[in-house]
Amino acid sequence: MEPELSERGLLVISTMSGISGISHLPVDELDGIPLGLLRRSATRLHAVCRYRRGVRKSEGVTPADVRCIDVHPYALTDEWSRYADFLLYHEYLHALGLSDHGREFRELESLWPDIEARSMGEDFGRYLRERSSKWLWVCPSCGNSHPRSRRANGRYRCRDCKVVLEDRESPR
Ligand SMILES: [Zn+2]
Ligand SMILES: [Zn+2]
Repeated sequence: MEPELSERGLLVISTMSGISGISHLPVDELDGIPLGLLRRSATRLHAVCRYRRGVRKSEGVTPADVRCIDVHPYALTDEWSRYADFLLYHEYLHALGLSDHGREFRELESLWPDIEARSMGEDFGRYLRERSSKWLWVCPSCGNSHPRSRRANGRYRCRDCKVVLEDRESPR
């Protein structure tokens, strides 16, 4: 396990012990869950809670049923670390028995005190796509850019300016 990551996990767990809305859940059992990393090339997943083989979500999940929680390595950079903490909180909620994203889950998720971190998912997704894509389709008028795996070849226009988008090699 990455030492830095396990430290983050402990900090998140200690923040969680102070959230009264989840005090009915076995938060103190979370520190036994191994933390790991997703592959660098992952672009769709930001983090995941992996249950042990044979665990049925319908029968209720506890932290002991979790094999590991994996987080995207790029979320552990200084720029995204607040989002990483929120990701850990999200996956820990799954480990506490809230296996789907239903209403109760979303209510508890919204108790995370770092409000800005809660809305960083979209930006992080874009950051990952930018890192992994070969091309940027750039609007020469407003400067908006869209990461893509293929060239635009003059086929697309900016939604706002109606100007033809130009291909630029992604910096990566
Ligand atoms: Zn989830
Ligand atoms: Zn434009």
